[in-house]
Amino acid sequence: MLQSTTWSPQRSAWLRTAKPLAATSTLDRPTQTQALVIGAGYAGLNAALRLLEQSIDVVVVDAHEPGFGGSGRNGGQVIAGLKHDPATLFSMLGEVPGRRLVEFAGGVADATFELIKSYGLKCDAEQGGWLQPAVNEKTMALVTRRARAWADITGTAPRLVDRTEIERLTGSRSYCGGWIDPRGGQLQPLSYARELARVVGDRGGRVFSRSRAGRPQYLDGRWETDVNGHSVRSSSVLICTNGYASGAIDGLDRSLVPASSVMASTKPLPHAVRKQVMPSRLPISDARRIMNYVRFDSAGRLLIGARGSFGLHEPSSDYAQLRHAAARLFPQIKDVEWEDAWGGLFCLTADFLPHLHHPAPGLFVVAGCNGRGVAMMSQLGRLLGDMAGEKERVDPPLPLTDIRPIPFYPARRLGLETVLIWYRILDRLHV
Ligand SMILES: Cc1cc2nc3c(=O)[nH]c(=O)nc-3n(C[C@H](O)[C@H](O)[C@H](O)COP(=O)(O)OP(=O)(O)OC[C@H]3O[C@@H](n4cnc5c(N)ncnc54)[C@H](O)[C@@H]3O)c2cc1C
Repeated sequence: MLQSTTWSPQRSAWLRTAKPLAATSTLDRPTQTQALVIGAGYAGLNAALRLLEQSIDVVVVDAHEPGFGGSGRNGGQVIAGLKHDPATLFSMLGEVPGRRLVEFAGGVADATFELIKSYGLKCDAEQGGWLQPAVNEKTMALVTRRARAWADITGTAPRLVDRTEIERLTGSRSYCGGWIDPRGGQLQPLSYARELARVVGDRGGRVFSRSRAGRPQYLDGRWETDVNGHSVRSSSVLICTNGYASGAIDGLDRSLVPASSVMASTKPLPHAVRKQVMPSRLPISDARRIMNYVRFDSAGRLLIGARGSFGLHEPSSDYAQLRHAAARLFPQIKDVEWEDAWGGLFCLTADFLPHLHHPAPGLFVVAGCNGRGVAMMSQLGRLLGDMAGEKERVDPPLPLTDIRPIPFYPARRLGLETVLIWYRILDRLHV
């Protein structure tokens, strides 16, 4: 079982600049509600907001506080689509369901920016585009196919950029080209989570911190969940614990592979340096299998992130590797001072798709962001809120699946980590 305490409260660049968390209390008495949401990240808070929009009373509990998990620690890159390209989704799911999922996934960034605007969430959100650089001919062919596929499917206008232009946009000679997805952008991730919690509270939702939920039990047609030794009775329970899942329902933990990602940030850089490094300010995630993601925050700190190493802890060597990667990409910053380093958990699924489950009446689960969750988990959270809403029958764009524990879990988990190490080697060899 994964303990979320593995990742202690951290000193991150986001904590320095985030909007304050609206006051939340600890659940300390027996409680009744229509819907209980477990986990106050993007998925849980968006689900809660969607339930409130349908006038459904909601209680949200987080074992720590809103934004404690991946939602307060991530790179803040708002990206449309899934890890799989549209063609892969068509062949995995079939033409018609594949197309529904591609359309949903293609719209998640727009929908997230619209939501932020409509609720006035103060989180430095900018839909200025997202840049995916290629590092060699092979990755250039990949991003060219990807950009063309999205252009054909959605009518968006992705832009391919060549070596000269990518150097002008990024200030780096490490890339040979890339594509700009105009649907993407960036935000302050912890502010986004905290602002979501604020509007959930403003609309009458009750959000509790330091309130760990136990396993929900179905008794006499209602759900009963132990939270801090008190019973929470509800018509529905929505489980939104992603990489921090900890035994909330049978089999869930073993259907997911928790994985870590780590980040490091510099002190705010002088203007002269900022003119040379990523002058376009477009957030970057390169197209390698195990990529680096880089961006500036609103105060001029450069932030770089990557997949964490084997095991779910935060070895200092991971941070040293990040600083070296940054200096390789941008020799202009090789002597700058670094300020913070932190990490967090997300989770992978065996098919690299997010999973939606409805294992019992009134019980809903979303999990498996596969590392891409700012926009996707926000919109899947809203979808879960629709599904749990009692007024509509929802036909989700993702297959509703049974919770299937991964067979031979410890071996498979080790296997997946081995594959990731192998991918890292292939990336380094440029094949
Ligand atoms: C370092 C890092 C960088 C990333 N960068 C990006 C990026 O740039 N772009 C992008 O799209 N995605 C990125 N991701 C992925 C993204 O952060 C996640 O997909 C997203 O935040 C998942 O949101 P969530 O609400 O599903 O889960 P989380 O935000 O992880 O929330 C789960 C919550 O559940 C709570 N919880 C767990 N068990 C219980 C319990 N029993 N009772 C009560 N509460 C419980 C936890 O405390 C936690 O707050 C990154 C992830 C990491 C870790």
